[in-house]
Amino acid sequence: MNPQLAAASVLILTLTTVTLGYAFACWVWPFKSCPRCEGSGKRPSPSGRAFKLCRRCEGTGRRLRAGRWIYNRFAGIRRDAR
Ligand SMILES: [Zn+2]
Repeated sequence: MNPQLAAASVLILTLTTVTLGYAFACWVWPFKSCPRCEGSGKRPSPSGRAFKLCRRCEGTGRRLRAGRWIYNRFAGIRRDAR
């Protein structure tokens, strides 16, 4: 095995491991906390005494992770194809 091939193999193996690790993480933990309201689901008024529900996450305080969103899109396409 020549050095370039060995380097390419290590690179591909690393990328595959990272991708599979991220896919697994998105499967087990599909949500992240909302960056707008920091997971509280609330947006405080300037006085700080009143609040409204966060529009970004609709008051849930959670957002779907990018990897899971992509998976859901593909799952939807597959479902619609039948
Ligand atoms: Zn939010």
